[in-house]
Amino acid sequence: MTTVQAESATTGEPVRETFDSLDPATDEVIGTYPIHTAEDVAAAVERARVAADWWAGLGFAGRAERLNRWKGVLTRRAAQLAELVHAETGKPHGDAMLEIVLAIDHTAWAAKHAPKVLGPKRRSAGMLMANQSATVEWQPLGVVGVIGPWNYPVFTPMGSIVYALAAGNAVVFKPSEYTPGVGRWLADTFADVVPEHPVFQVVTGFGETGAALCRAGVGKLAFTGSPGTGKKIMAACAETLTPVLIEAGGKDALLVDADADVAAAADAAVWGGMSNAGQTCTGVERVYVHEKVYDDFLSRVVDLAGKVRAGSDPEAQIGPITMPGQLEIIRRHIADALARGGRALVGGADAVGERFVQPTVLVDVPEDSAAVREETFGPTLTVAKVRDMDEAVDKANATRYGLGATVFAKARGMELARRLRSGMTAVNGVISFAGIPALPFGGIGESGFGRIHGPEGLKEFARPKAIARQRFRAPLNLTTFARTAKTDATVAKVITLLHGRRR
Ligand code: NAD
Repeated sequence: MTTVQAESATTGEPVRETFDSLDPATDEVIGTYPIHTAEDVAAAVERARVAADWWAGLGFAGRAERLNRWKGVLTRRAAQLAELVHAETGKPHGDAMLEIVLAIDHTAWAAKHAPKVLGPKRRSAGMLMANQSATVEWQPLGVVGVIGPWNYPVFTPMGSIVYALAAGNAVVFKPSEYTPGVGRWLADTFADVVPEHPVFQVVTGFGETGAALCRAGVGKLAFTGSPGTGKKIMAACAETLTPVLIEAGGKDALLVDADADVAAAADAAVWGGMSNAGQTCTGVERVYVHEKVYDDFLSRVVDLAGKVRAGSDPEAQIGPITMPGQLEIIRRHIADALARGGRALVGGADAVGERFVQPTVLVDVPEDSAAVREETFGPTLTVAKVRDMDEAVDKANATRYGLGATVFAKARGMELARRLRSGMTAVNGVISFAGIPALPFGGIGESGFGRIHGPEGLKEFARPKAIARQRFRAPLNLTTFARTAKTDATVAKVITLLHGRRR
């Protein structure tokens, strides 16, 4: 993947190391990008510090105007970006377009709502400080570092990038080594509408480039990727006490209650589990179905999944596995499930090819097997029968992850959603929370912490600034050495009146 030259044959000058971005379906080289060193990253962050001051100075209105212009460019050139996403990830054009459309909607939301969410708010000053006017406002952090994955190379990092920009920060983005072209494209189009300063820069490379960004003294590091890398990110950021936001993987469950719309649940399970070839952080990987509707649900899932095909032709619904190393993990999970008594009703042992994995539906898989406990990140589903929904909730929650979840139910939909230990839950729909810009997105447990999207996502990239302004001199001044014993006695009386009464 890497092409390295120590020095130029003609000039003798050191030449930067580069790497190729490859089409995962054909291994065709799509582009060649520099491997940015720690010095390059530090220089980008220094440039970003200057840019951040200028960008913050534009205010909410000035930034919204630029972000909306960028949104227009993204919209008008979406087909070009989708082609690049397709080339670097292998996903079908329609899926590439879907993630771009969602990212555009998030850009619009962040630009529009930043003033209301982050602007000054009056707070009650309380009884003891009633002479004060109390306000809080959210100020930018300065430079935000964003490290992204390849599976949704537009939607996922944009969930951090546009919220950080709307909050008044400059951004230095390290895209995945599998999708550097998409990252480059995003930064170039932003620079077209904001040419004055490098407000949004991209650095390319592998893990070392990302680690350098963690150590570059940014105001916050927003990471999306696997839990294992998330732990390394935290360790690197700990060296400089850089705050982190971690959006990591999941093992999301879908629950089907006895009164559910079984056809809709089956459709959601197959799309949620197989779309993007299962390479979705909030993809459905496990399904727990009430025994009363299990047979009906399963036969529908088998029917639907049997019609989904992985390939690179325009008729194929899902593309290749983008990261070659993932093929071995998927193969291991399927083999382990089958070896331990599981049965494949669709796909199975032969489903994993050299680049593509065909849909696989597994039943009778032990709950402690890798296919149920670890993130598979392939087009596979395990389906299990449960006595009741309490058992379904217990099994769904028995995971170290906690990203998304799905419930199909009529009477108990909201109750079950609340009981699921996950950052987000969709009821009678699947992954719908990701497309609602006003809702916070993020996980718990090994799925990470912190939130992107919505008001919480804007506040994630800002720090609350408290201001107490004296409106008039208080009759009882508490913050002076001139305070008397009489003042203290009066204060004690007031506090007893306010808080000391017995119930
Ligand atoms: P990954 O962890 O391998 O890589 C993610 C990014 O981290 C890449 O840019 C990579 O170059 C960089 N990186 C690797 N080592 C690093 C290090 N030591 N220091 C700093 N940066 C380093 O993940 P991936 O394979 O690109 O993405 C798939 C994973 O991402 C899955 O687990 C998936 O569930 C998760 N994901 C989560 C979300 C979410 O919002 N929670 C969204 C999409 C993907």
